[in-house]
Amino acid sequence: GEKSLIVSFGEMLIDFVPTVSGVSLAEAPGFIKAPGGAPANVAIAVSRLGGRAAFVGKLGDDEFGHMLAGILKQNGVSAEGINFDTGARTALAFVTLRSDGEREFMFYRNPSADMLLRPDELNLDLIKSAKVFHYGSISLIVEPCRSAHLKAMEVAKEAGALLSYDPNLRLPLWPSKEEAKKQILSIWDKAEVIKVSDDELMFLTGSDNVDDETALSLWHDNLKLLLVTLGEKGCKYYTKSFHGSVDPFHVNTVDTTGAGDSFVGALLSNIVDDRTILEEEARLREVLRFANACGAITTTKKGAIPALPTVSELSRRTES
Ligand code: ADP
Repeated sequence: GEKSLIVSFGEMLIDFVPTVSGVSLAEAPGFIKAPGGAPANVAIAVSRLGGRAAFVGKLGDDEFGHMLAGILKQNGVSAEGINFDTGARTALAFVTLRSDGEREFMFYRNPSADMLLRPDELNLDLIKSAKVFHYGSISLIVEPCRSAHLKAMEVAKEAGALLSYDPNLRLPLWPSKEEAKKQILSIWDKAEVIKVSDDELMFLTGSDNVDDETALSLWHDNLKLLLVTLGEKGCKYYTKSFHGSVDPFHVNTVDTTGAGDSFVGALLSNIVDDRTILEEEARLREVLRFANACGAITTTKKGAIPALPTVSELSRRTES
């Protein structure tokens, strides 16, 4: 039969990345367009792995917006939940990893189309048909997309979807650290699956450690699975009845962009049709090993979307 639908809600944008590495934005000789936005990456990750995904969000009715919608469709992601804003333009980001190791960001968001999604514009039928509803945090930053985000979550939950949250902290987009923490924690207890990176865990708890005690301080009663991703060190998982860690795969990493989204997409595409995986440690560990593999593969190529693994790539890799 037809696979169950995973709906991913939030922003999609274009990252402009310098053609050479290790320079500041001002020094860049040119830029490459890299489509991104964590929720869009997750939808594409799911679809590439053979799952059924839809992206819900707003794009500008401009060249970049239509290019992004085209990328979703080419990757088999449903675009039925996309709205186009005729006034505002598609969000853009200029991102570089400078030679001093610091990331430098510049954003076009004044406001960009994604920020203008209104609750009354949501494709509610699509959202209600989701078995998993996934979201990030950037859409919490301003109205009206904040209200659209909260409504979409509520509608999905009422219709029986599993709620999945990756805060995907992008601190430079928030007015302050305090505001980021407050808003992220304000929707914390809604999600049944939460994935944080080690850095996000430390940010949200104020701890310098990523130990079990710190992770469990973020536990809440509705939660079924808390994941802490550790980059090249793999991941940790926590449920009501067991917790542990899953080893990483060692690969030649060239760019870690999108690894977390690939990891989430792999997890969700496995649990969407069988939530009992969340209750059986051996099966969960198997799925997390697959998610670690997908995350690792994503780091072996530049960019997020071009680096997300496909079913055929995975079978090729496991054969060799
Ligand atoms: P995020 O992108 O959200 O910060 P991570 O960087 O922790 O998330 O990556 C998610 C997962 O991808 C990790 O748990 C790990 O399994 C895999 N991964 C990430 N970076 C590497 C790496 N350098 N080598 C191998 N696996 C990696």
